[in-house]
Amino acid sequence: MSTPFFHSGAESPDGALHRIFGFRSFRPNQEAIVRALMDGRDVFAVMPTGGGKSLCYQLPAVLMPGTALVVSPLISLMKDQVDGARANGIRAAVLNSSLDFAEQSAVLRSLQSGELDLLYVAPERFALDHFRELLASCRISMAVIDEAHCISEWGHDFRPDYLALSSIPELLPGIPVAAFTATATERVQHDIVRKLRLRDPFVLRASFDRPNLTYEVRFKEAGEAQLISILKEFAGQSGIIYRTSRKSVNDTAAMLQKRGFRALPYHAGLSDKERHDNQDAFIRDELEIVVATVAFGMGIDKSNVRFVIHADLPKSIESYYQETGRAGRDGEAARCILLFSQSDIPKVRFFIDAMVDEEERQRALDSLSKVVAFASSTACRRRMLLDYFGETYTRDNCASCDVCLGLHELTDCTVEAQMLLSAIVRTDSRFGAAHLIDILVGSKNQKIRDSGHDRLKVYGIGKEHDKKFWRRLIDDLIARKAIGRSEGLYPMLYLLDGGVRILKGEEKVELVRITEKKGKSAASKRGGLDVLAPESKPLFEELRKLRKRLADEQGVPPYVVFSDKTLAELSDIQPSTPAEMLIISGVGEVKLVRYAAHFLDVIARYKAR
Ligand code: ADP
Ligand code: MG
Ligand code: ZN
Repeated sequence: MSTPFFHSGAESPDGALHRIFGFRSFRPNQEAIVRALMDGRDVFAVMPTGGGKSLCYQLPAVLMPGTALVVSPLISLMKDQVDGARANGIRAAVLNSSLDFAEQSAVLRSLQSGELDLLYVAPERFALDHFRELLASCRISMAVIDEAHCISEWGHDFRPDYLALSSIPELLPGIPVAAFTATATERVQHDIVRKLRLRDPFVLRASFDRPNLTYEVRFKEAGEAQLISILKEFAGQSGIIYRTSRKSVNDTAAMLQKRGFRALPYHAGLSDKERHDNQDAFIRDELEIVVATVAFGMGIDKSNVRFVIHADLPKSIESYYQETGRAGRDGEAARCILLFSQSDIPKVRFFIDAMVDEEERQRALDSLSKVVAFASSTACRRRMLLDYFGETYTRDNCASCDVCLGLHELTDCTVEAQMLLSAIVRTDSRFGAAHLIDILVGSKNQKIRDSGHDRLKVYGIGKEHDKKFWRRLIDDLIARKAIGRSEGLYPMLYLLDGGVRILKGEEKVELVRITEKKGKSAASKRGGLDVLAPESKPLFEELRKLRKRLADEQGVPPYVVFSDKTLAELSDIQPSTPAEMLIISGVGEVKLVRYAAHFLDVIARYKAR
């Protein structure tokens, strides 16, 4: 092991945190990791997305003599990280196949002459003899493996070229090796530690809780209106809408474009160029919404995603957590909304039933049932998510999920349920939801007249409620197993034991989720940047424009210039001198020099109005 780095006169981690990054304090666990690395110890850390893993190695990379090597799986990720580090004045470079020969030579020269704090390299380099030989002649401070789960076959992003990394401790003896990931079961953890041959590492497993995310499940309505009205709550902010199929992605994106939203699709069926361009436009804040399949997300470090909407059922709780995890990396409030209806289940079942591999089919079924349980439960969403990862959430009320915020209005709907159930009985359980609802609301359509159902006693008895209400009630009765639905193209509804008890008046129905009216106001108070004082909003918008202009000039994503959090603080505090600006979170030494004049100018002119 190398000698511990601390010596008198050197800058402290705390000092560097303020000076370089402009942050007021470490996030949980960051300091312990920084110290372990500076003591020369190997590290294995699992921290959730947005937990701030980069800083854990970027900070010691600056303080320790020599260059820190960082292995990262995707070229786009590396570029983003280097842009971000450079914006803070860190001497960072990347070495991968996106560079031509001359560029690669230039990077290697600056590595050899000790001009780099950080070098991001692709994993396959470690299989190249000449690169390994070259390393022996350089001063390397530590080796960092980002997205370390890629080395494990048990993980979900296995990358065979990561296996070459197991030679690092041998290749670079005497320096600490650190592995970071956001996803690791115990099994993957042991696999990573073994494959990377970490030596008695400092192991850290952070909580998976993402306190700045609000989780909401809403009843999914047919049609476009619901999505449009949700998106109006996020006007101008960045977000992702996940859908299951390529077709639904295309349809939704086209629909949103027609309605005037800046939205683009992303899925594996698009050309490489289209995918790349659409992702880039999103990262650069040139469009607000990406409508995507699960193919979208890995390799996106965009920190100001303010909402993630699942317009279809996610595949598993794990993927739901990963996908929603892309919101709010900057630590600012962000919202995750899942639109759920029982009637989506048969569609998913259809695909699962088509799976040939029996084991795979069982796993998919199991995942589906867990997602459905999550969506139809009335227990704290956060508690359920954490529970899935084996973590116990100890607070009674998380205050940031639809359940804990009390967004469910509970109404006694026993009488309405009885109306529906008797309509099922009186039509011999031979009809589906649409027709039953037509009976209840007294529709005069052809099918009703042909069947003579306009003469039934239940005809029209439910007309004070609209069709939407009845759909929700049916959904709820299916979820609580009061009624069942047959398989096939035209599913029919029939009574189950629970339904019989309701019909007999032995059981009440009062847990129906009917309204989101209350929900809207309560949730949007926490939503996205609505945490901003309303009077700060116009200034925030101006600063955002300035940020975009500066980012374009420098060819970096806007969040590399300043995060949403920094803009929000700037518009609330409205500093008028560089010294005042330095107090703002995210404003370090280098960014102050680079940007203070621009931002102070806009703020001053705003105040003068
Ligand atoms: P991860 O890799 O764990 O997903 P990142 O390293 O990308 O997370 O960090 C997420 C965001 O949090 C970035 O915008 C980063 O600047 C910010 N961040 C990291 N550490 C701190 C801190 N101590 N205080 C404030 N913001 C931080
Ligand atoms: Mg990261
Ligand atoms: Zn909760």
